Amino acid sequence: MNILVINAGSSSLKYQFFRMPSEAPLCTGIIEKIGAKNAFIKHKTLNGGIEKVLESEEHIADHAVGLNKVLRLLSDPADGLIQNTDEIAAVGHRVVHGGDYFSKATRITADIKEKIRELSDLAPLHNPVSLECIEVAEATFPKAVQVAVFDTAFHQTIPEVAYRYAIPEKLYEKDKMRVYGFHGTSHGHVTQKAMQWLGRQDARIISIHLGNGCSITAVDSGRSVDTSMGFGPLSGLIMGTRSGDIDPSVLLHLMDNGTYTPDEISDILNKQSGLRGFTGSNDMRDVRRMQQEGSRPASLILDMYAYRIKKYIGAYAAVLNGLDAIVFTAGVGENDVAIREAVCTGMDYLNIHLDKEKNSIRAGNIREISRVGDGVKILVVPTNEELEIAQQTLELL
Ligand code: AMP
Repeated sequence: MNILVINAGSSSLKYQFFRMPSEAPLCTGIIEKIGAKNAFIKHKTLNGGIEKVLESEEHIADHAVGLNKVLRLLSDPADGLIQNTDEIAAVGHRVVHGGDYFSKATRITADIKEKIRELSDLAPLHNPVSLECIEVAEATFPKAVQVAVFDTAFHQTIPEVAYRYAIPEKLYEKDKMRVYGFHGTSHGHVTQKAMQWLGRQDARIISIHLGNGCSITAVDSGRSVDTSMGFGPLSGLIMGTRSGDIDPSVLLHLMDNGTYTPDEISDILNKQSGLRGFTGSNDMRDVRRMQQEGSRPASLILDMYAYRIKKYIGAYAAVLNGLDAIVFTAGVGENDVAIREAVCTGMDYLNIHLDKEKNSIRAGNIREISRVGDGVKILVVPTNEELEIAQQTLELL
């Protein structure tokens, strides 16, 4: 069964083509800088064990044009994987915001699209783009089942005591101000893998997603019970370009003074902060290089980055009333040896002991990097949001 997974960002479109139940995609691709003069397209196919990579630059006006481009590449007479659109059984769409309506993958109908549209208020950069892609996919693959997999769904098990903010009731009732949490598909995927690895369904796990966006989630027996991102994706950990937790008084003060408009403050917190705010780069590899060259701001922000994660581990160990495993995942979590070491150092009181040698081994598969013994298991688990979406889509069918 052929499943196409579409992961639409505000100006990008990632896609993968799976022939289920195989877990390896036959094709992966990305279109970046949609809307800009020159969008960048990378399309990789693995057909009969032979890998082919096609890279190009061209103007892609919007996501609809982008998706049509993907379709042409997929059905290319020479290198394509399908001959006609009917060969796609289902399209799985990543949708960022499912509000409190959606707690699992859902087959898309007119009503469901209406709900996603209503929720655009909560995710103005993402939900409208997902809707556009859903509608293009419906028109392009009329026989395929369309499925929405929500980033927020995994966190719908968080109890009220953790998802409410202590603000006037009507802001919750009317304006829906509460913790929703994000990166749910990733946290769900890696904790499932970790539970299989541990051979336990009742494990208490802290999942640490460190990519360009970063979040940390407390998971009890496969259910999310608290997470660091909240109403939006700004709170919690220090990220590539986002500040993470900050006292709201800072923002009120900046606005009161008239120094900055709300738009400017949004730009500062979302795009100019985090690693970039201290070093000019949001890429951990650059920041690491700067640190090695003796940059004081790079060194400080890296210490702050690890310190913030440690604070959350302490908090979530309390929430979970104990801890069986912590999981590192995503670009930084899977690759940056030094961050994992910084986070796991000085955590003996929680029985977290890193094995430095195991930590330094680079590999693309799930692995354990804790010292042998009965302490907390420290795992590195590659995330794979697209595979998770394909699997949830298949389950729904
Ligand atoms: P993601 O959002 O999961 O794609 O992660 C993106 C981030 O992962 C990039 O911005 C990099 O900072 C980081 N990253 C990717 N590869 C490495 C690496 N080999 N070492 C350290 N950081 C990396």
